[in-house]
Amino acid sequence: MNVLVLNAGSSSLKYQLINIETHALLSKGICERVGSDESSHKHGIDDNEVVISIPMKDHNDAMRHVLEALTEGENKAIDSLDEIDAIGHRIVQGGKYFDRSVLIDDFVIEKIDELAELAPLHNKAALMGIEACKRFMPDKPMVAVFDSSYFQTLPPKAFMYPIPYEYYEKYAIRKYGAHGTSHRYIAERAAAYLEEPIEDLKIITCHLGNGCSMTAVDHGVAVDTSMGLTPLDGLMMGTRSGAIDPAIIPFIMEHEGLSTSEINDVLNKKSGLLGISGISNDLRSIRSASEEGDDRAQLAYEMYSNSVKKYLGQYIAVMGGVDVIVLTAGVGENCEKMRRMIFAGLQPLGIVLDHEKNKERKGEREISTKDSRVVILVIPTDEEYMIARDTFEIVHENESSELD
Ligand code: AMP
Repeated sequence: MNVLVLNAGSSSLKYQLINIETHALLSKGICERVGSDESSHKHGIDDNEVVISIPMKDHNDAMRHVLEALTEGENKAIDSLDEIDAIGHRIVQGGKYFDRSVLIDDFVIEKIDELAELAPLHNKAALMGIEACKRFMPDKPMVAVFDSSYFQTLPPKAFMYPIPYEYYEKYAIRKYGAHGTSHRYIAERAAAYLEEPIEDLKIITCHLGNGCSMTAVDHGVAVDTSMGLTPLDGLMMGTRSGAIDPAIIPFIMEHEGLSTSEINDVLNKKSGLLGISGISNDLRSIRSASEEGDDRAQLAYEMYSNSVKKYLGQYIAVMGGVDVIVLTAGVGENCEKMRRMIFAGLQPLGIVLDHEKNKERKGEREISTKDSRVVILVIPTDEEYMIARDTFEIVHENESSELD
């Protein structure tokens, strides 16, 4: 079965075509700056990648280009749309309605729309992607895979905020979490890597990239996570502040004369590594600057690692211990120095990094010492494969139940 995985952002459309039986990536690409005069389309894998500037006025236009690129020209992956069996859509917010991936029907579309208030840019964009697919491929089954559904197992003591209860009742303000597909994937892969049932393990999963989040997975069940009502909460990130004293927000608004959308911009786009270093949100640039003696770059590095360290402590306490810590995403997978700083001084907790193994670069790997009580793993995330797999399973189940 070939599954087209779509990830629609407000001005972008990312896609991968995956064969589920062989786990092969057949094609991938991204349409960017959709809706502007400068839109472009990158299509193809590695050496076959081509980038063209092409006007795309909306997601419908972008989808048309994607389907053309998949089926026509030198870099085509398939001969016709008949070779796409199903479509999986990444949806950021599933609220309380979806604790798992589902086949898309009118009810699901209505709820994604209703939940757009909690994730305005993302859910609306996903709906545009769904509409475009309905238009060009009306007969293909579509599945919604929600970033938030993995966290529907959180107990109320973890998902409620200590603010007046009426805001939960009136506006559904609570923790929903994000990056759920990535956390679910690396938790499952960690158990598979160790050849132990996930139900026997206490796992802390760390998605550390430009966006950062951590999750406590207790015996296969997510019990706490660092992102909240929105992906702004929790750890310090590339441009996002993560959790800060909430009183800072009205203070800055008052003293700088900022509106709500301006302060939102400050906390989402001008904070984190970028805000502290004043150089970049990209850890590689910050690393170079800190090695050249830039104090603020060094501070940004230390704050980022300290933020991860503090959540490790929280989740060890929440679960009464930890067996496995898993790292993924740009920083978690690639940055040896950041991993060294995160795990420095944790030997008394039974967490011991192997400095030689920490230098290894590729693939799923163990980077703790043989004697470390807690296993530390690096597992490259694969959210697209997870979306394709969910899509395959749900479409398959649905076809089987129709035959019964
Ligand atoms: P992601 O959001 O998962 O794409 O991760 C992006 C972040 O990973 C950026 O801050 C990059 O600087 C960082 N990153 C990627 N590769 C490396 C590397 N080799 N060393 C350090 N940081 C890296």
